Amino acid sequence: MYCMGNRTTTDTFWDESAETLSYDELENLQLTRLKKIVERASRSEFYGGRFAEIGLRADSISSLDDITKIPFTSKQDLRDSYPYGLLCEPKDRLVRMHVSSGTTGQATAVFYTRTDLEVWADLLARCMYMTGARPGDTFQNLTGYGLFTGGLGFHYGAERLGLLTIPSGAGNSKRQIQIMRDFSTSVIHIIPSFALLLMDVITELGIDPRRDLSLKIAFVGAEPYSEEVRRRIEDFYGIKVYNSYGLSEMNGPGVAFECRCQDGLHLWEDAFLVEVVNPETLKPVPEGTYGELVLTTLTREAMPILRYRTKDLTRIIPGSCSCGRVHKRIDRIRGRSDDMFIIKGVNVFPIQVEQVLMNISEVGNNYVIMLRREKNLDEMVVRVEVTDRIFVEDMRRLQQLQRKIAHELKGELLLTPKIELVEPNSLPRSDGKATRLIDQRTT
Ligand code: AMP
Ligand code: ZN
Repeated sequence: MYCMGNRTTTDTFWDESAETLSYDELENLQLTRLKKIVERASRSEFYGGRFAEIGLRADSISSLDDITKIPFTSKQDLRDSYPYGLLCEPKDRLVRMHVSSGTTGQATAVFYTRTDLEVWADLLARCMYMTGARPGDTFQNLTGYGLFTGGLGFHYGAERLGLLTIPSGAGNSKRQIQIMRDFSTSVIHIIPSFALLLMDVITELGIDPRRDLSLKIAFVGAEPYSEEVRRRIEDFYGIKVYNSYGLSEMNGPGVAFECRCQDGLHLWEDAFLVEVVNPETLKPVPEGTYGELVLTTLTREAMPILRYRTKDLTRIIPGSCSCGRVHKRIDRIRGRSDDMFIIKGVNVFPIQVEQVLMNISEVGNNYVIMLRREKNLDEMVVRVEVTDRIFVEDMRRLQQLQRKIAHELKGELLLTPKIELVEPNSLPRSDGKATRLIDQRTT
């Protein structure tokens, strides 16, 4: 055992008492925190009004099952209460604001007190430590600094852990690679679409990532990606990729994270209470069954959010993890319920398309799904970048590839999309989360 900051840790755990307490102890802690957070939340205009309507008070909660007495909170509730309706602290106690990256509708703002920031940094330090990142590592944070929570969230977590932290931000591929080489970056945080695009730039520059770079760990998250993409990134860079999940309504990253077992993401249950519900009936689903993730902040001061419907679809992985942490694990996010699209009567998640594409070696690192309506007929077009290797070859090979992709997609989706093959690096790139679906159908 040795001491790090004010945390006592072994070589395996950043905060052993918080990560390995018994499940009974964890539930007792959750209950104490749940009562407190209900009391705190009632100070806000939004929850104060709601609780008064239904007669809910902190002493209405006497067991964790009583959480069902609390109504769900939706994104729309946050929008309706924008900007200050959920605040539980006076403005002079707030030190930070972020917003959610939602692409449609009114943005939602999230506020933090100094303690909120400390708790958040600590949770992220716990996540990173769990994967083997240690003082002495150089950490390059290749995500947007600004309103997005991924940049500053990881930044302060990494400093808390004692990593040499380089705030290199999003985009700027060549400079990123230069920094990696100059400072022997060993740990990175990056969104999956950028990790894929950077692969093309590294190849173009004639760099062999295993020989010329010192990378060993990547934290990859903030948008859905498939196991196939994880494998591509790991194989190319010669590193381990750990899935990182979070959302601004729950601080940002640091909600759930993979340990070295890479078998699901531990959700920090001392900070968040987790439920998985059927998105239609809103009833809990049995452990192991997919549903919508619902989260309650247990420690947030400035802006507690209770029973938040994340729209993210996942399941609790039954059983315990061999790493020794008690916190339940969620599975890789399958997508958001509002990402699902219906085409010719078939329900499709973009991630299903990605799984198929990324298993085909001639397929490059970028794609986009387009939905069109022509003469009242819906059409799904998958535009796919091919690798250099195949594109220089003849038309016949390209047509074969087109047929192969269509065939494999039909096996997964039960419908045959139109496939358009395009040159490497020709699809639009973004510095932030990728747009994988363009729906041009008018309803
Ligand atoms: P934001 O609050 O704008 O940062 O967006 C949060 C949303 O990003 C979540 O609700 C998820 O839909 C998505 N997200 C974050 N991390 C992951 C991940 N590891 N896998 C899949 N989706 C993710
Ligand atoms: Zn584990």
